[in-house]
Amino acid sequence: MDGYLERLRSGTLKLYSLEQSLPAKQAVAVRRAFIEEETGVSLHALGAYGISPERATRRNCENMIGAVQVPVGVAGPLRVRGEHVDREVWLPLATTEGALVASVNRGASVITRAGGAECRILADRMTRAPVFAARSVAHAAEVVRWVEGHLPELQEAADATTRHGRLVGADCSVAGTSVHVRLAFTTGDAMGMNMVTIASEAASAVIESATGARLVATSGNLCTDKKPAAVNAVAGRGRSVAAGVQLSGDLVHDVLKTDAASLVEVNTRKNLVGSARAGALGFNAHAANVVAALFIACGQDPAHVVEGSLAITTVEPVPGGVYVAVTLPALPLGTVGGGTAIETQAECLALLGVAGGGNPPGEHARAFAEIVAAGVLAGELSLLAALAARHLARAHATLGRG
Ligand code: NAP
Repeated sequence: MDGYLERLRSGTLKLYSLEQSLPAKQAVAVRRAFIEEETGVSLHALGAYGISPERATRRNCENMIGAVQVPVGVAGPLRVRGEHVDREVWLPLATTEGALVASVNRGASVITRAGGAECRILADRMTRAPVFAARSVAHAAEVVRWVEGHLPELQEAADATTRHGRLVGADCSVAGTSVHVRLAFTTGDAMGMNMVTIASEAASAVIESATGARLVATSGNLCTDKKPAAVNAVAGRGRSVAAGVQLSGDLVHDVLKTDAASLVEVNTRKNLVGSARAGALGFNAHAANVVAALFIACGQDPAHVVEGSLAITTVEPVPGGVYVAVTLPALPLGTVGGGTAIETQAECLALLGVAGGGNPPGEHARAFAEIVAAGVLAGELSLLAALAARHLARAHATLGRG
């Protein structure tokens, strides 16, 4: 240890190259000791981790010094009635927000008592949008015409870079001399950002050489990755998925302690009217809460909670009760790649029965998307009901005193 610390101090050894001369666990320990020495801050707790650093240092995190631990709670059982998963599940939720797990648990209880959440995948398309510079607006229009007429050539180039990724569409958008080509892929069980970036580079090279337009950036932000964007809400990104449940008036009364009319009113005035007045892109109560907790537990890229927040929650009166649904247009998620193989995260995916590649490929990721949607539905129901119950209590108090 001392010899390495001395070389780090003198600058003859770079902090990032420790793994080249030491096993991963020791490299992480030396790096942590060096940072403790430099800053005078004890990192004892950061160093007490259970995941193995061999893979994490190679695949997930440069300059690793330890791991942050996030408590994981369980909510359920939650009955999911999807096309890719049709059973009860226990949701692993990684969170530091007290009351979140209890809230989702209550929502799961009412959904399960109602027979389960029906879930459907609406679309399955991960996107990357390279931007090209044309010489003029006329040239830009030519580029668009060429792309629209040559999808098979782009598919041949893109699909050659991956076994599981398939280019399924290319939508062009022109602004002056900038041409964005929003390439859409199916990605099997992967979330797919690395996969489609590599494939998009191959497709971009074909566009560049055929049209003479200059590739400026493989990501031109019309993808749109990790930024709030209407294009994702409208056209979708990753898995687009919906979950819904019909609740009888009795269930709403017995479990949620409110009534159907109050649920409808709170959803309309809060999630729809309030979100519209706020200029929000997501029309929901707290979809991001459940997406974040599941994403962190299950090794997803947490920055994609931005896309997950675009959900729309609807509550409609039906004879004898209400039909409550959530629609998530953009859920970038996967069960292979990224952080999914880190031991604790892999266990959470296994708990859901979706760890690793599915058979056929894509089956696990779609099942996972259905589960996330059902979890978001549970969270929405519980929070809406809590608000509606107070609204109901206030209404009774006012009427009672009138
Ligand atoms: P990845 O680990 O880079 O790629 C998935 C790998 O799994 C591929 O090598 C794929 O092989 C293989 N694979 C094996 N079985 C599969 C199956 N059943 N379905 C699909 N693939 C299978 O993961 P990724 O999802 O493409 O990228 C995720 C990472 O990208 C995350 O760490 C995320 O943080 C990061 N990210 C990258 C960017 C970027 O711009 N590059 C942006 C945002 C996030 P084949 O390709 O041969 O099929």
